[in-house]
Amino acid sequence: METKIMIRYGELSVKGKNKRRFINRLAENIRQIFSDYPQVKVSEQFDFMFIELNGVDKEIVIDRLQYIFGIQSYSPVYEIDRDFDLLKEVAKQVVKEKLDEREIHSFKVATSRSDHNYHMDTNAINRELGAYLMEEFPNLEVKMKKPDLTVRVKVRFKDFVVSSDWIKGIGGLPVGTSSRGILMLSGGIDSPVAGYLAMKRGVRPIAIHFASPPYTSPQALEKAKQLAGKLTKFGSWIDFIEVPFTEIQEAIKEHIPSEYLMTITRRMMLRVADRIREKYHALSIINGESLGQVASQTAESMYAINAVTTTPIIRPVVTMDKLEIIDIAQAIDTFDLSIQPFEDCCTVFAPASPSTKPKVDRCEHYESRLDIDTLVDNCLAKLNFERIDHHSIEKSSAQEEAMDDLL
Ligand code: ATP
Ligand code: MG
Repeated sequence: METKIMIRYGELSVKGKNKRRFINRLAENIRQIFSDYPQVKVSEQFDFMFIELNGVDKEIVIDRLQYIFGIQSYSPVYEIDRDFDLLKEVAKQVVKEKLDEREIHSFKVATSRSDHNYHMDTNAINRELGAYLMEEFPNLEVKMKKPDLTVRVKVRFKDFVVSSDWIKGIGGLPVGTSSRGILMLSGGIDSPVAGYLAMKRGVRPIAIHFASPPYTSPQALEKAKQLAGKLTKFGSWIDFIEVPFTEIQEAIKEHIPSEYLMTITRRMMLRVADRIREKYHALSIINGESLGQVASQTAESMYAINAVTTTPIIRPVVTMDKLEIIDIAQAIDTFDLSIQPFEDCCTVFAPASPSTKPKVDRCEHYESRLDIDTLVDNCLAKLNFERIDHHSIEKSSAQEEAMDDLL
């Protein structure tokens, strides 16, 4: 059995002097994701990263690695002494294992060297090892183009590295390398997808969820937490903040004409989000807005809502059709949770006919009826913070079942 997994970084390799920072971040994220397996050791090098299994089931490690942003590809490997006879033995073992796993008719040996002084060059190794394997496995033929199996040998200064399967990683940048971003996470379909896509480019999300008890239910809040939990597998933990929004929504309901209620609710959300961003040293706000999808997402609405801040707002799904967003939601396993029917704060207070063309000066006029600073300060004084990590989520399947029972 292989004892290590070799990880390749891909895009990271072109990042020049930032590379070290990216590699360290990736290694930390991987350590965090395997913190329930202390035997798993991660050692980062400039071109590759190695994960030592130390007895942990290879399949568990392979399975988790496929979701971690910043990994381009990875392979289970054997690291062995630089002894050609041993290399033959191990290569034979690799072919045997793979023959047990799947149908294989053809193979090739592909060698690369980091130590160019090794007494055999890559062609010589390919030829000699290939000939040996053909003797051992007379039913296999050598095929240079698209063989069923490639036995890879890397000649390093102190050892040989032997591998076969090359598993494609998810790509992207390690979560945390693009600073923190405030993810406005409702219980809907779009915002978890937005969070996932922002993570893909290295943003470490701090998820905030506006809850308006008693108008919104504890289940709606729990659902948002579970959605945040679904995102942890892409880069370990996510901080989750429950934002108490009842007082603000009641004030809006009382003082703002129904036509502008939704726009001003969004402006208040964005103001609160921006203050939380400041407090937690984040640099962006991420939401699930999609142009034209609903009244609050017309270009006019976005303009009027966005006017309360100059902070960059990342809208990863802004140009996607609903079906495209749903495809991603299904792929990242958030869809089934998202469609569970719990009212969120926006549905509860939704006006019958919201303006689709709100004006900034009208917003400001109506908002002069509110004590905005006090409302925002009160809200910020009562944030509920929770760190959701990969492992607490894995263990919470019981919680998920409990939630199913409520439906
Ligand atoms: P989603 O599917 O993400 O809920 P949506 O299409 O339902 O999006 P809206 O309800 O208009 O659209 O919300 C637009 C965006 O505002 C959401 O994607 C989310 O980023 C943010 N948002 C809405 N409600 C909340 C909430 N209760 N808590 C946090 N963010 C919210
Ligand atoms: Mg919504």
